[in-house]
Amino acid sequence: MTLQHISSYAHGEWIAPGSGARTIADAVTGEVFATAGNDALDVAGMRDFARGKGGAALRAMTFHERARMLKAVALHLDGHKDALYRLSYRTGATLADSRIDIDGGIGTLFAFASKGRREMPDGHVYVDGDVERLGRTGRFLGQHVHTPLRGVAVHINAFNFPVWGMLEKLAPTLLAGMPAIVKPATASCHVTELCVRAMIDSGLLPEGAVQLITGGTGNLLDLLDCQDVVSFTGSADTAFALRSAPHILRNSIRFVAEQDSLNASVLGPDAAPGTPEFDLFVKEVHREMTTKAGQKCTAIRRILVPDAHVQPVIEAISARLAGTVIGAPDLDGTQMGALVSNAQKRDVLDKAAIIAGEAERVHGDPEAFEVSGADAEKGAFVPPMLFHCADPERAERVHDTEAFGPVSTVMGYRDLDQAMALVNRGGGSLVASVITRDPEVARRVTLGAGAFHGRLYFNNRDSMAEATGHGSPLPHLVHGGPGRAGGGEEMGGIRGVKHYMQRTAIQGSPDILTAITDQWAPGATEIEGPAHPFTRRFGELEIGETFHSGERQVTLDDIEHFAHFTGDTFYAHMDDDAAARNPFFPGRVAHGYLLLSFAAGLFVEPDEGPVLANTGLDGLRFMKPVTAGTRIKVRLTVRKKTRRTPDYGEVRWHVTLTDQDGDKVGEYELHTMNAY
Ligand code: NDP
Repeated sequence: MTLQHISSYAHGEWIAPGSGARTIADAVTGEVFATAGNDALDVAGMRDFARGKGGAALRAMTFHERARMLKAVALHLDGHKDALYRLSYRTGATLADSRIDIDGGIGTLFAFASKGRREMPDGHVYVDGDVERLGRTGRFLGQHVHTPLRGVAVHINAFNFPVWGMLEKLAPTLLAGMPAIVKPATASCHVTELCVRAMIDSGLLPEGAVQLITGGTGNLLDLLDCQDVVSFTGSADTAFALRSAPHILRNSIRFVAEQDSLNASVLGPDAAPGTPEFDLFVKEVHREMTTKAGQKCTAIRRILVPDAHVQPVIEAISARLAGTVIGAPDLDGTQMGALVSNAQKRDVLDKAAIIAGEAERVHGDPEAFEVSGADAEKGAFVPPMLFHCADPERAERVHDTEAFGPVSTVMGYRDLDQAMALVNRGGGSLVASVITRDPEVARRVTLGAGAFHGRLYFNNRDSMAEATGHGSPLPHLVHGGPGRAGGGEEMGGIRGVKHYMQRTAIQGSPDILTAITDQWAPGATEIEGPAHPFTRRFGELEIGETFHSGERQVTLDDIEHFAHFTGDTFYAHMDDDAAARNPFFPGRVAHGYLLLSFAAGLFVEPDEGPVLANTGLDGLRFMKPVTAGTRIKVRLTVRKKTRRTPDYGEVRWHVTLTDQDGDKVGEYELHTMNAY
């Protein structure tokens, strides 16, 4: 049989396997069908190409342009799903498994594309937090900003999710403006290679934005410096070996690790047999044990249940496991496929044997189980194995041995404190779930176990119809965990993008900050426009363009009229004595909303024009009570502009209301949609 060549993609060329190539076997038949890797790969050239070509091109784009690029790539990959599903069967994955990997990966690209456009500027500098006033008069300010790192992100991925594993790292990296060199695990790199080919062929990515290494990475990590990032997913041993290399340590090279995790799921004390929560728990545990044949970083390895419910839980989970059809992943009806390789099968059986030293196997015999449509001896098949550990407090291995397959251990707990102590014995995990309807249990677990976990998942009858699953990392939420889980964080929305940028504290005058951030900082120069800003189109308005209104006096009639008209007859506006007894007011005061309405009346230009809609306001503050007789006026300044479509964009206006003494009585940020 001719072996398939799984190539690398380096400095714009596909490089076939050569000396030092590794072999790849079919998970279902055990047959070697491909090779990958080439010792002659010019990794220094790849690094330079990424930095010189990819990085420069990506940094020239704005966050929004990069977000639109991600969306286009996602749409393109959507058309290649079937080919990816078909190839994934060779990794032992069923169609349902591949949907998590492939659709999940594409969904992650979409999510970052959307977040990038909604939460990041259409510019080059990401502003982090508010302006800090550092001097007495506001002429010296501070502001944190992020700019893209100028190196390359090296992504070293695990075998279990050849597409999602790549795309969940690529999305934030490319959005940040950094190029990547992707190194998938050899066992499933043929699927990653097909996906990379589709991305490269699409022509949507700038040259050098994404390169691929199948096989070994040579001395690439020794060539990195402080502008590069290594983002790793895999075993704790490999992570330790790579991150402790002197070159990595000496140069403080960012190393993000996501590694072994002994995730737990807790049946709440309230979730007795017969409740919807009990059934939900059994269903979630079963799903986590069998999806991807348990080869999920977030899979449930430890099952904690109240002592009284140990037996019912074992029986219920075992019954579901017994009905699980194991077989060839491409066969209709197969619910659990094979592990990725026979090497992985040996590893899982070895680890299960270690766990068996402290726990009794109560379901699943690796020597006797049925496999449909494939040869159980040749393929990397194992049955789901359920263990019961009778003394989890004294046990050690059940808390530190990750059998990366369909292996899980039931443990009883006497009370919630003990449950939390046992959960935390994982030494830092990606996720723990608690199936409970008791809010107090959830609160205690958050306080007692949150510090050991990157994610806590609470589910019950109220949320189960919409719940996303214990094992699903989501692009919006943090994926990662302390300690044994690697100490890293991925995704988490824009948080994940920041891993590929440098945060810098900028200090300077308001004008300096305005120029850097492209956002008007309070105190910066006000620009007088040629006409009322509401008559100016999005493209014409300048940052800092300011309108000063005339004055309007607030009368008692106004306050009463507003009160009766709106129904807001709160005593502070209607009853002078009662208002005076309030420590904040000198007597009757104007409604804040009345001031807001008067402000609009003072600054709007009534004629039809480019302002299409008022879409909201942020950060509204009333600073000084306004009594009848006060004269107010408004200042309106273009603070920030974000183009949304070719036809219109969002303008954020900084608005301040002042009284006749020049004191600020109110402040907010107004949002409008303006025609381009
Ligand atoms: P490994 O740690 O062996 O490999 C992870 C990645 O690192 C692969 O891409 C691998 O490439 C690469 N790698 C290994 N050595 C080096 C090196 N010296 N330089 C550069 N890259 C290197 O993990 P596996 O994927 O093989 O999985 C093994 C175990 O890891 C599992 O059994 C499981 O226990 C754990 N694991 C944990 C995960 C989690 O998130 N909790 C996820 C996946 C795995 P190559 O394949 O070519 O060796």
